[in-house]
Amino acid sequence: MMTREVIQNEEARLNALRDLHLLDTPPSESFDRITRLASRLFQSPVSTISLTDRDRQWFKSRVGVDLAEIPRAEAPCTYAVQSADVFVVPDMMEDPRFRDSLLARAGIRFYAGAPLITRAGYGLGTLCIIDDKPRGLDKEERTVLADLAAMVMSQIELQNAFGSIDATSGHANENQLFEDIEDLGGRHPGAPLLAVLVEFASLAQVSNGQRVLGAAYAEAFVREATGRIRTLIGNSKRLYHVGQARCVVLDGPLAPKETLAGVHSWQETVDTIADGLRDPILCEGVPLAPEVVFGVYAFPAGEAAPRDVLRRLFNAAADARGSAAPVAAYDESQDLAHQRRFRLLNDIREALAGSDQLRLAYQPRIDMTTGRIVGVEALLRWHHPKIGDVGPAEFIPLVDDTAYSDLLTDWVLATGIAQRAAWRDMDPDCRLSINISAKNLQAPDFSSRLVQMLDQHGLSPTAIELELTEGGLLTRSPCTLAVMSALKQSGVAISIDDFGTGYSSLSYLQSLPIDLIKIDRSFITDLETCLHDQKLVRAVINMAHDLGYRVVAEGVETPGAFDLLQAWGCDEAQGYYIACPLSVDEMASWTVARRTLQRSA
Ligand code: C2E
Ligand code: MG
Ligand code: MG
Repeated sequence: MMTREVIQNEEARLNALRDLHLLDTPPSESFDRITRLASRLFQSPVSTISLTDRDRQWFKSRVGVDLAEIPRAEAPCTYAVQSADVFVVPDMMEDPRFRDSLLARAGIRFYAGAPLITRAGYGLGTLCIIDDKPRGLDKEERTVLADLAAMVMSQIELQNAFGSIDATSGHANENQLFEDIEDLGGRHPGAPLLAVLVEFASLAQVSNGQRVLGAAYAEAFVREATGRIRTLIGNSKRLYHVGQARCVVLDGPLAPKETLAGVHSWQETVDTIADGLRDPILCEGVPLAPEVVFGVYAFPAGEAAPRDVLRRLFNAAADARGSAAPVAAYDESQDLAHQRRFRLLNDIREALAGSDQLRLAYQPRIDMTTGRIVGVEALLRWHHPKIGDVGPAEFIPLVDDTAYSDLLTDWVLATGIAQRAAWRDMDPDCRLSINISAKNLQAPDFSSRLVQMLDQHGLSPTAIELELTEGGLLTRSPCTLAVMSALKQSGVAISIDDFGTGYSSLSYLQSLPIDLIKIDRSFITDLETCLHDQKLVRAVINMAHDLGYRVVAEGVETPGAFDLLQAWGCDEAQGYYIACPLSVDEMASWTVARRTLQRSA
């Protein structure tokens, strides 16, 4: 017999019931087995596992009854769920509490229910047997019914322990979210659902908290925050803890009149949670103000795969984190962009391993005084088998943030150097320019590996120039500097690409071992008409010369711009006016044509 005390707090009881995510779930053989057994043991025509919701008794399992639920008022289960003991009504017609009840009017006479009580002491419902004849239940039979109820509770606990509850917070986890979205899709196809992701701490806040105060502190913070959110949303919405400092509130199916935009209902949910999380959370005596952002996604049940729902919520919350507003709704165009980025990153590895997707284009650079070709820049081209051509301005920044950055640079160096060696009749002073990421210089052996590669092709380090963007060098490390010095010493030239787009000054760059400055093409494009750009470009040319650097103008597209730059003493030029990026074959014909032109000049 159970002797445990039952907590009599109806709201908390309902929360505990909802957190188990049993209501309105499909029938399950593990529960049906127990009701069948009860019915047979007690020779009763009806047996149910009945959960006591706010105003209904919902049957998780039932034998001998067609209804899925009955109103809670007048149901004997309401009494049974409030006590720790088996509750028996030998004859409803004799009991003034039930004489006029729905069950009695339907011909039911006998009821016996054993409460289903959680470890924490909440009554969830009952395992009950019902008969159309009055009868009693002896002590032995009461024990058997209570034992069967305990088996139901073990089954409920087992289900929850089996990967659907988060161990830290005690709330349902993402597995349960996926299952519930799937289930709602099956039972209410097309009905509007609203999901709100609450990210109650930024990554920095979590990791700082853990570093300074320890893991126990972070767990206490998460428990307190999720507990607060659970209370704030009320018990008609479901809560899932889906990441260290993230949870999802799922609402629905919403009334069909609520449009998918769901503006009204999500605003209310977000405001309630934002208000409730405004006060700092006290963790082990330290007050911490949650840094909350929300991602919102409204969708028709059954029309989005559960994992996509969560990914879209994450993306929306990430958009909110990166903007001034604390809430962002899922945006399909943003999502497509995220997916494209993800796909490109995923596929670049295969491109680097194969031989048919990547190639280099070569763009010549000339000396503005002599007109001679003094350099060729290698520019990476990617033809994706499904997407088509993808420009380096799109995929290089993605790769730069990952470990593929070194692999990519190795590919470009190997391909470019082999090509430079193949151009046997090219002027030995003509350098092949290769764009690298500042991150590549964090490998201490970068310089020695490069020199070795050149050696294998019988090339001197003076055949190569490396282009580094100004922005990438802003966070230089001692290793970066050491590698740059080693490169310079070996004879490899180093240039600063896209100069003017970062925030460094020439004097800052002076501390770096560089040879050349490439003025970004954004200052050259409108050079003929923009006085501001004219002043700036002239000043850069003069200052760079004072500091001993050569200057290259990128993106020279017109004879007018070329003439201005030449008049101001710019050393070299690159751009469509001279040549576009060319294939190896095009380079050959361009070189021949250029030489002919020069001879005849
Ligand atoms: P960048 O190094 O500044 O390269 C110059 C870019 O300007 C190239 O774009 C080139 O095609 C384009 N361009 C050249 N002349 C003109 C012109 O007269 N007018 C205009 N409007 N554009 C001109 P692309 O090839 O799309 O490359 C974009 C950027 O991607 C490069 O800028 C470079 O930062 C990066 N990149 C390209 N290949 C590689 C590579 O192999 N490794 C690394 N790390 N980055 C690369
Ligand atoms: Mg470049
Ligand atoms: Mg550039």
